Amino acid sequence: MIIDAHAHIYPDPVAERAISTIVQNGQGRVAHYTDGTLRGLAGSMQNAGIDYSVVLPVATNPGQAAGIMQWISSIPPETPGIIFFGSVHAFDPDYKSIIKNIKSLGLQGIKFHPGYQNFPADCTEALRVYDEVLNTGLVLHFHSGFDPSLPDCDYTSVERFGNVLKALPGSKIILAHAGGMYEWQKVMDHLVNKGCYFDLAFVLEMMQGDETARQLYRQNEDYFVFGTDSPWCDQNKYVNLIRNSPTLSQEQKEKIFFKNLLKLIKIPSA
Ligand SMILES: [Zn+2]
Repeated sequence: MIIDAHAHIYPDPVAERAISTIVQNGQGRVAHYTDGTLRGLAGSMQNAGIDYSVVLPVATNPGQAAGIMQWISSIPPETPGIIFFGSVHAFDPDYKSIIKNIKSLGLQGIKFHPGYQNFPADCTEALRVYDEVLNTGLVLHFHSGFDPSLPDCDYTSVERFGNVLKALPGSKIILAHAGGMYEWQKVMDHLVNKGCYFDLAFVLEMMQGDETARQLYRQNEDYFVFGTDSPWCDQNKYVNLIRNSPTLSQEQKEKIFFKNLLKLIKIPSA
């Protein structure tokens, strides 16, 4: 089985604009491999042999969460292989009822991207909301570290996530991009041995070519989950990088592809 723990889609009417905005902000550092729609992701999964993708929407301002939930609810439940996480903004005054609603709709986690949501990842208001998410029994998924589409933003720095993990030790947390792309030594210093998980989205190739990153993986192989950041990376390419890796054992490949993630989430029953 293969689960992509980190993918994005957008509602059909806005997908094209969302993609072109992010590609433009990336100034040549970001390309796209699907058209950003549900149909585009489904085709990519089929091509790559991916069974499930965890789709991570982001409410970029307070008040947007309701619209996201409405959109998720409008997607036919028979859509195979899509596992949605919900979203809430740290400054949304209704965060408690939104989190309750996300849980009651059967979603298993909530995604935060403090850069796009415009708050420091470790601010007091945000920690209060993370706490509520965890107490509700949901998983926290964070963008962590540098974001090539927000090159000047420090709201998701490795140090800030060090503070988050200190405040929430042993919690069900996934940090995207292995904790922070290009900053593997910092990740080792601030983020490991805290019981949190790391996805490989966007950073798999760069990790394979970097000795510190390889050491980070080797020391934490029970905490690494497969993720691509589709549409920003090619799911098929990422599957093959793991599948054909000459250095990973069969057991390590299975841990990455699904075993580690299944310690946090369940496959929805059909
Ligand atoms: Zn992402």
